[in-house]
Parts: sequence; C-alpha cells; structure tokens
Amino acid sequence: MNSPVGEKKRNGSLLHPYTNPVRQQQTGTTLTAKGDGVHVLDGDGKRHLDGMSGLWCASLGYSEPRLVEAARRQMELLPYHQTFDARATAPALELAERLVGLTSEFEFDKVLFANSGSEANDQAAKLIWFYFNAIGKPRKKKLIARTRAYHGVTVMSASLTGLALNHNDFDLPIDRVLHTDCPSYYHYGKPGESESDFVSRIIGNLEALIEREGADTIAAFFAEPIQGAGGVLMPAQGYFERLQEVLTRHGILLVADEVITGFGRTGQMFGSQTLGIKPDIMNIAKAMSSAYLPISATLLSKEISDAIVEGSNRQGMFGHGVTYSGHPVCAAVAIEVLNIMQERDLVGHVREMSPLFLSRLKRMEEHPLVAQSRGVGLLGALEILKDKSRRVSFALTDGIGLVLKQAALDEGLIIRPLLDCVAICPPLVVTPSQIDELFDKLGRALDVTLRTAQSRGLM
Ligand code: PMP
Repeated sequence: MNSPVGEKKRNGSLLHPYTNPVRQQQTGTTLTAKGDGVHVLDGDGKRHLDGMSGLWCASLGYSEPRLVEAARRQMELLPYHQTFDARATAPALELAERLVGLTSEFEFDKVLFANSGSEANDQAAKLIWFYFNAIGKPRKKKLIARTRAYHGVTVMSASLTGLALNHNDFDLPIDRVLHTDCPSYYHYGKPGESESDFVSRIIGNLEALIEREGADTIAAFFAEPIQGAGGVLMPAQGYFERLQEVLTRHGILLVADEVITGFGRTGQMFGSQTLGIKPDIMNIAKAMSSAYLPISATLLSKEISDAIVEGSNRQGMFGHGVTYSGHPVCAAVAIEVLNIMQERDLVGHVREMSPLFLSRLKRMEEHPLVAQSRGVGLLGALEILKDKSRRVSFALTDGIGLVLKQAALDEGLIIRPLLDCVAICPPLVVTPSQIDELFDKLGRALDVTLRTAQSRGLM
C-alpha cells in the first residue's frame, strides 16, 4: 500500500468540503486508504464499517470486481466521447433506455445525464423554466422546496436546499425559490396535534403560499421522498397524497429528488414507489453507479420532453449540455450496477435485511441519549437529545455530534451526525452479522458519548 501512514496531515492544500477548517488543522485529516466490502481502512490500516456508504452512495460496497472490470473494458474501448451534436456512445444510449425501462410506471420519456446530484437538480430547474416558456406560460417560474431539504450546492440547488448553512454568507437563496414546511410530524407537529391535523396545517400553509404568490407564477415543487441530509426525516402519513392533489390542482410540476432514495435504498427501486409519489421529473445520482464514478440524470415526462423538443427546434437546437453528459465509462459502470442489482435481487435483499436493521435501530431508543429512531429499508437515523422526555437538544457548541462521531471511529464505525440526529445508511450489500456489528459498535459509542456528556456537566 503506497499510502502515507500514521502522521495526520494538518495543514495541506485541500479545502475539505463540509468541514470546520480550523478544527481540521488541529485534528488533522483522516486518510481513507483502501476499501474492502462494506469496510474502509484508514492510513494506519484500521478497519471501519462504513455505516454511511461514503456519502449515502457506495451501495455495493468498495470491492465489487465487476464494476472495476466494466470501467476497465470501456476505458480500453473508448474512454470518452460526447453526446452533443447527435453523437453518443453505446453505454450512454443503453443506460438511457435502461433507466426509462426501470421507471416504466412513471412513464418518463427522456433522460438527460450530468455528473452530480446538484447538477441534476440544477438542470431540472432550467428545463422547467424552458418548458413553461415553450408552452406559452412564461410567468410560471417560481420553485418551491421545503425547509431542511437538501438538493445540493450549485447556485440553484443550494437555493432549493432548505438549510441555513448552505445559504448564510453565500447570498442565497436566489429569487424565484420559496420554502415551505418540512413534513416531519415528530419535529414540527404541535403538542396535541394529530398527524393528520399536522398534514392539514402544513398543506394549508402551502395553499396559502400558492395563493399569495399566484399559482400562475409557480412552476414546480422539489421534494426528496425522505429528506436525507436534513436529518433522515420521514414525511407524515398521507403527506404526499395531499401534496400531489394540491400541485395537480394548481398545475405545479413535482420533481422527486431521488439522489439518496433511488436504487433500492428504501426497499423498492425508488423512494417514489415506497412513498406513493408520481413525479413529473426524477433526479438520480449516487447509488446509480454505486459511487464508483460520478454520474447523475434527470428523467422527464413525455409532456415536458415533447415541449423541450419543440421549443429547441424553434431555437435551432437544445441549448444545454455538459462535457461529460453520459460519459461512457460512468455509464458502463452504471449499467453494470443495474445488472448486478437485478441478478442478485438486491432490492429483495434490502427488504430481507430491513426488519433486522429497523429492529436494532428501534432498540437504540432504550439508550438515555436516543429520543427516537426512524427509518425505512436500509436508511435510518437516531435523534440524539440532551433530555429526551422534555425534548431538549444539545447546543451545537456542546460538540456532542463530534464526540459521538469520534467514539464510533474508535470502535471502527463510520456514522454521520446531522443536526440533532445521527444518520445510518450502510451499503445495500450488508449482511445480518454486519448489521449486528454496526449497532453493537454504535451502542458502545453512545455509551462513551453519554459518559462524556455527563462528565462535562451537560446532562
Ligand atoms: N440531492 C440529495 C437528496 C442529496 O442527498 C444530495 C447529496 N447528499 C444532492 C442532491 C447533491 O448531490 P451531489 O453532492 O452529488 O451534488
């Protein structure tokens, strides 16, 4: 292994995304040196179970030889060519057909490739504007997203994101983006309010927003089936049904951001199936290539793609595209992911593993720090509170998320603290004994965190 071992790099040239850069200079950078199934090894050779699949993406784990072989084969044959100018490579063509086939119940007609989840949401917004111009409704331009949504970090996708950290000092969100309620009943239900009353209240707020702004100015609503980076927030029962009724009534398109929930995570191929959503546009990325190479896509309904075809013809051509749209090596890997998922019935495997995963998650509620568990398929979170009976959070400055993260690392487990919760999203290929390993380690890490919180006088 040719990796630097031991000494942590403290002040290198890399600006770490989503890191406190001052703290990083004190604590150093942890090297990820090697992958092995659902585990990664750090620079000292210490093994960690990756309870987050990287960033919710390495669904087949880190050593799937067929993906390496698919990339190698395509690299040798043709490492790159473009999809502009009526050209394409065989993997780009095949992947587009496969994705439309895979989502047949949603009746998508065309696929536009990009490189990341952020870009997929960004291009979806542009396509929506283009669509409404093409059909002669140029006033319909505003986009609605939810608080605690995560849609990415480009100017548009960060604007759609509903987290202050992504807006503050970046001069975002841009005009045309509006935010409405997060549909987590656990977090935003009022005392004494039933779940269905909560849904009625937030849908009422949305209707009031639409009324205020004018339905003729609102183009689309962006939604993750389950809000991921905002805290793995499950929508209240009946939310999407009520939401879709309102959107349809006002001629507002629904965009499903399936960047985390796509490709089996929730126990069905797409989160929209699990949640009963019928989107006009779907954005996918991450597990689409099991993260082995960057690729994302936007899938469009026939109505939208027809209008884009006609509108582009009027202009002379479709004026959009990135250099690596449908990159053949990335597409070849994504095709092989679909082959593997099908041959091994990986979605069935998720459904088989899910009861153990969810029951171990639920048992964590016995821990004094765990106020709630929530999850579906192989996606979960624990709400970590200072006082669970009175629902009191730790302050960010208490640094409890960092203590838990480090205690888990000491145990050989990677998890992700997010606001008041810790997210858990293991590779889909995880086995029962690895699920047990994950929760045994997490339990011990929570015990260390509790002792630290007590010794610091925080509880
Ligand atoms: N949408 C969702 C739901 C996501 O979770 C993410 C990334 N976590 C993105 C979009 C952005 O994807 P990327 O980081 O690939 O730009």
